[in-house]
Amino acid sequence: MREGIRDTLVFDMKDLRHEDFKAFEVLVPAASLGLVYEEAEFTEPLSCAVRLFRQGNDTIYVAADIETKISVECRRCINPFEVDITTTLELLFAVGSESLEQREADERYYDGEILDISEDVRQEVILEVPVWSLCSEMCKGLCSHCGAELNFEACACETTDESTVLDSNPFSVLSKILENN
Ligand SMILES: [Zn+2]
Ligand SMILES: [Zn+2]
Repeated sequence: MREGIRDTLVFDMKDLRHEDFKAFEVLVPAASLGLVYEEAEFTEPLSCAVRLFRQGNDTIYVAADIETKISVECRRCINPFEVDITTTLELLFAVGSESLEQREADERYYDGEILDISEDVRQEVILEVPVWSLCSEMCKGLCSHCGAELNFEACACETTDESTVLDSNPFSVLSKILENN
């Protein structure tokens, strides 16, 4: 039932002619799906476990588990770090021709022979790429004065920063007024 690893998300339904179910393992480079970003680099190909189920004559139910890794830059400390991406796709394809409206409504059509889920996988992965990434919630980032990496070193400006914050805090101003009276 299970074949060797493939490098395409295009399936020939002739392969499914005499069976109701088939599983495929697909390894496809992100770039070959047009997944190219400046701020996120795919460090592994997309690994997809794809299952095709035939329902009735020509309707195909597709389920795919997609896994990959990307390297992104932390918005605070600008160090690159890896993020695991895992997502699942479930689609139903009927024989027919596809209009753009139907595509948006999650209805899929194929010509009865060739079933291509490349675009669906691409769009699903795009949704998973983080837009605002931090290497850690606790990341201290860079000092805005001297550029020191505050995760690794404390810098001399840090105390001045804190006193500025206190002074601009309306409650500390209020407490000073209360003290003076
Ligand atoms: Zn960071
Ligand atoms: Zn500093």
